[in-house]
Amino acid sequence: MRKILVAGNWKMHGSKTMVQSLLEGLLAGSSADAKADLVVFPPFSYLSQTESILSGSHIHWGGQTLNPNAQGAHTGETSGSMLKDLGCHYVLVGHSERRSIYAESNEDVALRFKAALDARLHPVLCVGETLEEREQGLTESVVERQLDAVISGVGIDAFRRAIVAYEPVWAIGTGLTATPEQAQSVHAFIRDKLSSLNGIIAGQLRILYGGSVKGSNAAELFAQSDIDGGLVGGASLTVEDFLAIYSAVA
Ligand code: PEP
Repeated sequence: MRKILVAGNWKMHGSKTMVQSLLEGLLAGSSADAKADLVVFPPFSYLSQTESILSGSHIHWGGQTLNPNAQGAHTGETSGSMLKDLGCHYVLVGHSERRSIYAESNEDVALRFKAALDARLHPVLCVGETLEEREQGLTESVVERQLDAVISGVGIDAFRRAIVAYEPVWAIGTGLTATPEQAQSVHAFIRDKLSSLNGIIAGQLRILYGGSVKGSNAAELFAQSDIDGGLVGGASLTVEDFLAIYSAVA
């Protein structure tokens, strides 16, 4: 059985005061024996504070990206081993904002995925199509190319340690959500594709949905057979909204 995972991507939001109250609120409103796992992705600058508040608790945390290199002259960048040193279990790779604003190609994403594995982190590989691509009927081919770049870089076995997040770009931060049926159909496509390479790994892989997940739509999305939780942006920034999603897990 795949346990539901609810993850919050804070993006470039936060302050020391906000981190303290948000994490304390999440600790108070969640528990280790709940039906869902909880993970937060704070900005790098607050990972140390996050570690001191969450250390030893049931809530895990991760970085929002990482540099593909292990170390060296890369001003402003953060390596996988640095994330590991700050207690991270996870790291996002290939979020659509990294792909579109910071020009990360499928091949760059594959290198970051590998760097995450090298640092013993669990990569959360984000894939998804733009509105234009969906309207042209290209959703599956875009997602397939994004997956193939990683599979050809690291092999299917590497997905044992990974999570995939399907995030249609047109639904991120827009208030538009894929219908449960639209999301389920792409999730099933992803699982079937990976299953053709290794059925056990594909069966165990958690595939999260991301794109304007809220307390009001989470239950219906998470009830789909191939949706194993959510990657949440805006609604992960307040205790009330994020816990409403976490509590939607039946
Ligand atoms: C995201 O950026 O990963 C995301 C899903 O954002 P939102 O929930 O705000 O659409």
